[in-house]
Amino acid sequence: MLQLNENYLNLQQNYLFSEVAHRTNDYIAAHPDKPVIRLGIGDVTKPLTKSTIEALHESVEHMASAETFKGYGPEQGYDFMRNAVVNYYKRHGACVDLKEVFISDGAKSDTGNITDLFGPDNIVLIPDPVYPVYMDTNTMNGRNIKFLDATKENGFTPMPYEGLEADIIYICSPNNPTGAAYTKDQLKVWVDYALSRNAIILFDAAYECFIEDDDIYPHSIYQIEGAKKCAIEFCSLSKTAGFTGTRCGYTIVPLDLIYKTSDGTEMSVNSMWTRRQTTKFNGVPYIVQYAAAATLSEQGIKECLENISYYKENARLIASCLSKKNITYFGGKNSPYIWFECPNGMESWEFFDYMLNEIQVIGTPGAGFGKNGSHFFRLTAFGNRENTLEAVNRLDSLL
Ligand SMILES: *Cc1c(COP(=O)(O)O)cnc(C)c1O
Repeated sequence: MLQLNENYLNLQQNYLFSEVAHRTNDYIAAHPDKPVIRLGIGDVTKPLTKSTIEALHESVEHMASAETFKGYGPEQGYDFMRNAVVNYYKRHGACVDLKEVFISDGAKSDTGNITDLFGPDNIVLIPDPVYPVYMDTNTMNGRNIKFLDATKENGFTPMPYEGLEADIIYICSPNNPTGAAYTKDQLKVWVDYALSRNAIILFDAAYECFIEDDDIYPHSIYQIEGAKKCAIEFCSLSKTAGFTGTRCGYTIVPLDLIYKTSDGTEMSVNSMWTRRQTTKFNGVPYIVQYAAAATLSEQGIKECLENISYYKENARLIASCLSKKNITYFGGKNSPYIWFECPNGMESWEFFDYMLNEIQVIGTPGAGFGKNGSHFFRLTAFGNRENTLEAVNRLDSLL
């Protein structure tokens, strides 16, 4: 008789965004005359940039003639794209080798699929609150999950503590949903911790391009000494370049990631990931990689940063309203997210309803990202300026 993966029974209902949509739609149906502003979902709104679009057109033409047509490509990505990633890292002062770069269809797939490489008995350390994919993918595999409390008191950048045991450590910085980022000094402590335990850090850098205080916050964990020996990094063009629908990311699996098996044999994580990808993945479309490589060029990134500074101005507008009202918030800088404490001790869903009913501004209740989010609320800077300004005016009158 068929046995199902009953770990799926342990997944929490994925109800955050559907519940937000449900409450919003009910409100709109009852109050069709009240315009609602959505600053909830973490999707971008600006279109692809000029360099990206030109490269897309060009690569479509390549597919139209026999001389330049491309069929199956290398599973790890074309060398032109892997080189574009190597050069992008170089510009941030991090050194990665072409053989360490794996092109993916986005960071979500790879952060989920990476669990294939690890044995069942590891202690998996996941911050609370955080991007729900880490917890759900490990729950699907029946892993032993331990939560690391991110709180107002530790600035939502929790650190290793005396007696902490962990083998697989998820870090997302700048963080979704809290907007908080680890400093270089803080990440050095995590790297040293991982090295001391032969643990691995899974570092999600999906929002690295929002970092502006480059002296304090690293764009890549490989800017930290020792990280090549203990960390995998996931990154994506989704938030950097508006690729949420186009789909392209990259994962760095260093050649120095060598761990011992129970009988003392050495295994290379890079070789394992190569084997995993060549077996289960057939690569990202040529057209998309061609456009992604153009996007990561100096000119391409310059254009992306113009869009990002537009979003960052939105973040600044929201954050300055909260500052004025003396509301504690995180992010708003080096991040597209503003994570603030619900006023008057309100619970996050209660505050969601309050905002919806009073000012028709939609955000995301922090409870959806973990128990430590239950009195916090996330707004995003991905809206357009007009809506953001209007939302800020309404917030100003409410708070
Ligand atoms: C948006 C996001 C990603 C990127 O996902 P893609 O699959 O590349 O679109 C990864 N991690 C976090 C924390 C995110 O918020």
